[in-house]
Amino acid sequence: MILKRDEPLAPRTSYRIGGTAEYFFIPERMEEVSQAMSYCRAKGLELRVLGGGTNVLVGDRGWPAVLSLERFKHTDAFGPYAKAEAGASFPAFVKKLADNSSKGAEALCGIPGTVGGALLMNAGGHYGEIGEFVKRVKVAEPDGRLVTLERDQCGFRYRDSDLKNRIILSADFEFPEGDRDEIRSRMRDIFQQKKASQPLHSHSAGCVFKNPPGLAAGRMIDECGFKGARIGGAAVSALHANFLTNDDHASAADMLELISKIRGQVKERHGVELELEIKVWS
Ligand SMILES: Cc1cc2nc3c(=O)[nH]c(=O)nc-3n(C[C@H](O)[C@H](O)[C@H](O)COP(=O)(O)OP(=O)(O)OC[C@H]3O[C@@H](n4cnc5c(N)ncnc54)[C@H](O)[C@@H]3O)c2cc1C
Repeated sequence: MILKRDEPLAPRTSYRIGGTAEYFFIPERMEEVSQAMSYCRAKGLELRVLGGGTNVLVGDRGWPAVLSLERFKHTDAFGPYAKAEAGASFPAFVKKLADNSSKGAEALCGIPGTVGGALLMNAGGHYGEIGEFVKRVKVAEPDGRLVTLERDQCGFRYRDSDLKNRIILSADFEFPEGDRDEIRSRMRDIFQQKKASQPLHSHSAGCVFKNPPGLAAGRMIDECGFKGARIGGAAVSALHANFLTNDDHASAADMLELISKIRGQVKERHGVELELEIKVWS
């Protein structure tokens, strides 16, 4: 196992924000995941997993103990079946699914990060979510036991799952067969829609807030006049008000202040408490 000390976390996140990890574990064998867990338990440290860092706001003081599954990247797709290790790139896995004519892959395009992060978040969008296609997930339980969970034990729901507090190691999937050209063409359309409506070239973590049932968080934020608003280096995207961007060396404190201001005004104007979609590590 590789153990790095005082590892900077900002370059490992899409926001490019955050302090360091005092302990940064990179297991090279699956058993080492449980070893890192028991090491942290013994030291009283809460171990967190960093995937692609595309849905995390790391605090300015960092996080004491972090684990990366970047050595576990194997994926495979054959007929209706597919499998992936948690550290695999999610976009590369989705491309492999499309090449394999796996229907449903089109709904998962344009989502950065890793397979592990996508499973924990039940990543997806208007046209579908990854959890729909899961058969089983292999996890390390908080006590270090390796366990296989069937799909109905994972509690997949809108941008959430019951996989929290566990370390996701790998998953098996099943997809209906589709037409490869149709899937690819649909993917291009969905990607174009995203390109036109999201600041894909800025440092962001995607949508910051979940959409409340039947409502669009971005529209409510826009109606409060926030597009283009900024605090320090943190800004509300002019393209999509639910995307907050790090435009100029923003700190986590800048971002959290902007989040708090948005929440306050949306509550005042719309009477709605916005719930965070991103994970804040502070
Ligand atoms: C430009 C942009 C567009 C986006 N568009 C979308 C979209 O369309 N739909 C969507 O759903 N999301 C979207 N996102 C958000 C993000 O990409 C997804 O939530 C993604 O699935 C997160 O994966 P990650 O590996 O980066 O997770 P991270 O950000 O690293 O982690 C997210 C959470 O998952 C946990 N985690 C990660 N890996 C594991 C693991 N192996 N075991 C246990 N816990 C783990 C982390 O501890 C953290 O709590 C977007 C983000 C960006 C920057």
